[in-house]
Amino acid sequence: MADLLSKSEETAARGAAGTGAALITNAMTVDVEDYFHVSAFARVIDRAHWDRYECRVENNTRRLIELLGRYEVRATFFVLGWVASRYPDLVREIANAGHEIACHGLTHKLVYEQTPREFHDETKTAKALLEDIIQTPVNGYRAASYSITARSLWAIDILVELGFQYDSSIFPIRHDRYGIPGAARKPHWMSGTGGASILEFPLSTKNLGFARLPVSGGGYFRLFPYTVTRMALASINRNEGIPFIFYLHPWEIDPGQPRIRASRLSRFRHYNNLAKCESMLCRLLGEFRFGTVCDSLGEIGLWPIVGPGAQDSRGVATPRPRE
Ligand SMILES: [Zn+2]
Repeated sequence: MADLLSKSEETAARGAAGTGAALITNAMTVDVEDYFHVSAFARVIDRAHWDRYECRVENNTRRLIELLGRYEVRATFFVLGWVASRYPDLVREIANAGHEIACHGLTHKLVYEQTPREFHDETKTAKALLEDIIQTPVNGYRAASYSITARSLWAIDILVELGFQYDSSIFPIRHDRYGIPGAARKPHWMSGTGGASILEFPLSTKNLGFARLPVSGGGYFRLFPYTVTRMALASINRNEGIPFIFYLHPWEIDPGQPRIRASRLSRFRHYNNLAKCESMLCRLLGEFRFGTVCDSLGEIGLWPIVGPGAQDSRGVATPRPRE
């Protein structure tokens, strides 16, 4: 895989990661859900039976908070409503540690398997639940399994209607469960089918010319050798001059989690290299600069979103496009 990256990218990676000279603030994100919530197991675990499984999300999230604290990194935590309703103290702990709380929906249903009305009601409930716990507006949204695709772009209009300021649900690749292959790769304003616009921070990919390599976290982070991830991410910072957005789930640093009997592909995607994940994450945190989604968008002048004619703290106007 390393062969796919050019010599100059290898040099850029060494510069970025080796000297600490990568000055762009990238977004560190965590999707707060448990091992039995994942879409890969949805066929073998009935949503109505979630309460029967041993919950490990509290301890694993606390370990991530501790780990991020060690590297003085603030992150954005997209919290599943199901988790927030059972563990409100955990949500407060995340916020009190200086991290941003954002929304990962209520029940982890795929957006394109919901009607717009169902999506509206679930998402509204999840947002209100989080805001009630932290007493602060929740600005960000990420769909279960990146399930805002070409056939569910109507969700963008609903997110704007519900008061979300940004979304991070678009994976600009081809995949069996998610993805918009031709979508823009860097943060941009995008419109829903009804014409409303939202600031989109798509999941990061390395453009190889003939294909896009998903290098932004989760199963891909555990699949590729660390060097490949590091080179690809450094290239996004150095050669393209844009931040990347990285994501992880609390269960990905928990090799001792109960094993679920699912298809071979689902088991591979879920369990591959769990034991290596935490040490790779530590390397990543030590070699790149990270902040919340808003910190990262702020550095490229896209946050905060201000009204026409207004300016942010650095004097850069970021007007919201007309809808
Ligand atoms: Zn999820």
